[in-house]
Amino acid sequence: MRRSELTLFTSREPGSQDNETVRLAQRAGLIRQFGSGLYGFAPTGQRIRGRIIDHVDREMRAIGAREISLPQLNYSGLWEESGRWGEFGGEMFTFENRDGKRMCLAPSHEEGIVHLLTGTIRSYEDLPGLYYQISRKHRDDHARSGLLRTKEFTMKDAYSVHATADSLDEQYERVREAYIRIFEDLDIEFVIADAENNLMGGSASEEFLAVADTGSADLRRCSADGCRFGVTDESPQSGLEAGAECPECGGSLVATEGVEIGHIFKLGTRYSESMGLTVDLADGSRQDVLMASYGIGVDRLLYSLIEQHADDDGCRWSADGSGIVAPYAAAIIPLQYDDELAAVADYLYEDCGPDQTLLFDDPDQSIGERFAESDLLGIPYKIIVGNEFREGGEVELESRDGETEYVTVEKVPERI
Ligand SMILES: [Zn+2]
Repeated sequence: MRRSELTLFTSREPGSQDNETVRLAQRAGLIRQFGSGLYGFAPTGQRIRGRIIDHVDREMRAIGAREISLPQLNYSGLWEESGRWGEFGGEMFTFENRDGKRMCLAPSHEEGIVHLLTGTIRSYEDLPGLYYQISRKHRDDHARSGLLRTKEFTMKDAYSVHATADSLDEQYERVREAYIRIFEDLDIEFVIADAENNLMGGSASEEFLAVADTGSADLRRCSADGCRFGVTDESPQSGLEAGAECPECGGSLVATEGVEIGHIFKLGTRYSESMGLTVDLADGSRQDVLMASYGIGVDRLLYSLIEQHADDDGCRWSADGSGIVAPYAAAIIPLQYDDELAAVADYLYEDCGPDQTLLFDDPDQSIGERFAESDLLGIPYKIIVGNEFREGGEVELESRDGETEYVTVEKVPERI
């Protein structure tokens, strides 16, 4: 993109938010608040969110999940069948439509997937199956810590259906491993905690929590390298306090906060039984379908990436990990945008890809402003076209962390 043609939504205002991460996201022009617990995404924020979604989407497809789309608006009937109408209390948005029918904005979609599959899945031979969607969800939560508890948010939710417990365990493990890959590739520091099942029902669940200074849950985590053990107040082992021994590796637990970024549930027959999702078995008998569900909070991943990696100059997306979600791969910064330097900057812009780079071509910006803006957005590389080019034909490649090297113009695309 050409900077001169772009409205970046960046802000010099300090912002009124208590939460430092949200303040930074606003200053960098990623989000804009629409009231308590409601945010819109500006183009740069949406680019980053879109890349997180692409990443999650790729991994889900890689393990054979099939994409679906379930309506966010539901009639009360489905929820009465499952017995969850009213169970969410004030957290579920409910209302009557003009015909006097009771409706809700679905806070989750276990009911929806059962409805989608009922009548289609009839035999054990139709199983197993794994389905997912990435969509907006609504919960009338009390706003807290900006992007962490919002009334509308983006979630990847997936559901699997099985004839046997072994098949469910196998799929659960495969999704669990995919989640670990997704979070590791994004460069998120996280732990996994056992969780008591509450509103979702079922026999077992695990929570993935990003480690944070300001999160949404109190967390004790193992301090040993490579150990992902964590415990929250919702865990069966919630009695384990800071200083206690890690039950997995013997290391020591430390107190911190966490952001719930993923949650996986073995639901068993919690929904199929009440809603009548059954299959015929080989011996002619009928059986309730076994289910599991799997969620990832996309907006919370964005929050956690900023929280864990930002520095005083702005956002940071590490070049080989979370770099895949940076809004641009590189900023092209000519010392002046004229004559020879402008020609080289334009050449690099075309060669590296106009959609992947931000070309600072606005003559009204000082060089200091260009550097500051690139750092605020967390762009992993600056390609600086200046005196070295005039003298020796090379440009300076500077990483977001300040490491520099000089490369010839031709080598730039492969380096970034
Ligand atoms: Zn441990």
